[in-house]
Amino acid sequence: EAKSAGRNRFCRYSKATAMYNPARMSLENDLRRAIESNELVLFFQPQVELASHELRGVEALVRWQHPERGLVSPVHFIPVAEESGLIVPLGNWVLRESLRQLREWNQQGLPPLRMSINISALQFRQGDLPRYLAEQLTAFAVDPQQVELELTESVLMNDVEGVLRTLQEIKSLGVSLAIDDFGTGYSSLSYLRRFPIDRLKIDQSFVRDIEQTPANESIARAIVALADSLSLGIVAEGIEKRSEKAILQHMRCAEGQGYLFAKPLPADDIVAWIGHHLQSQGRPAFPAAAPV
Ligand code: C2E
Ligand code: MG
Ligand code: MG
Ligand code: MG
Repeated sequence: EAKSAGRNRFCRYSKATAMYNPARMSLENDLRRAIESNELVLFFQPQVELASHELRGVEALVRWQHPERGLVSPVHFIPVAEESGLIVPLGNWVLRESLRQLREWNQQGLPPLRMSINISALQFRQGDLPRYLAEQLTAFAVDPQQVELELTESVLMNDVEGVLRTLQEIKSLGVSLAIDDFGTGYSSLSYLRRFPIDRLKIDQSFVRDIEQTPANESIARAIVALADSLSLGIVAEGIEKRSEKAILQHMRCAEGQGYLFAKPLPADDIVAWIGHHLQSQGRPAFPAAAPV
């Protein structure tokens, strides 16, 4: 009795100490403060049509402009945000800021872009995402057709009915849905039949060295064929080399994204990039900024 109580106490104690991680706590507190004090920034990465190089959209990618640590990658703080629940306010900030930026670009006369926004699984499940999205679309008066949410396969697992309802609510706003990192998750392909998905994003691990890795080429080809037969759009992520682009284009992958075209860039730089990009295509640059 006493022994087992002791063991229990010991278990509880060791569990508690294992969970107390000062470094983690300070990162978490730092992040909480960062969200409130506007230290987050969005970078944007172009998505282009492979055949024509025409710009189709941009993906919004969050960074943390830390006062001492400099620019922090989302791979370092998104997991902490997810574990601590901070992903909900963080994700809401990303949603607002990307819609605000989209409206500003529309007002500046940029060609209408698709804005792709990453949504984490917890944000999808916990927050009242459809309602918040509807509110913000109205507040910023952007065309919902310009907005796409990127979900990972992990979002689609469990509670199929609940997920389906949420997806349908989002779709009914006119916003489109993409599956990010497609092919890397654990979900079954049958969700593609049930859920109102618009686009697949081929994960960059299949794009990497596609020219020397027959398995990657086979997988990418299969994903393109799958998207094609289900009438879904497709974007290949992480294209760095001309050879990778050429192979993907040859298998009729419609769109691509990657360092070959542009790295994720701050808003001002993306406007300059778009200007040059249009010029290089022999198309008129967008008109000067309209008065706001
Ligand atoms: P993701 O959504 O799959 O985004 C693509 C990642 O690949 C980005 O990393 C991008 O910078 C990187 N990338 C793009 N092209 C290339 C390339 O040619 N080569 C290489 N090596 N990498 C390339 P990033 O910006 O570090 O973001 C990492 C991940 O963090 C994202 O993966 C996404 O899962 C997450 N993330 C970023 N922003 C947000 C956000 O606002 N909300 C949520 N929930 N997650 C976000
Ligand atoms: Mg993404
Ligand atoms: Mg991805
Ligand atoms: Mg990823």
